[in-house]
Amino acid sequence: MNNRFKCQWCEDLQAYRSNGNVLWELPDGSKAIKISETPQILCNNCGIVYTEEAITIEIEDQLLLIETDQLGDEVSYRDLVKMERKLKRNYFRFD
Ligand SMILES: [Zn+2]
Repeated sequence: MNNRFKCQWCEDLQAYRSNGNVLWELPDGSKAIKISETPQILCNNCGIVYTEEAITIEIEDQLLLIETDQLGDEVSYRDLVKMERKLKRNYFRFD
């Protein structure tokens, strides 16, 4: 049940997964939004809170592929990753 992780910074083995708010700048730099309930790793030994690389990549990819105009100032991580991706129609055109 209680999965423990190795802290990326101090290598303590008691880091754990939790969900929290992160402030994220949109890819176009127009504004920062709050993403709530984002999976994070917390370490009580060194006090760091960080977002895993896989989650970071997922959020960044998603923000590039959705219409960020639809976003308010706050979205939950779960709602964000569910948002429909808008691939430009000519994205796969080869002519
Ligand atoms: Zn640590």
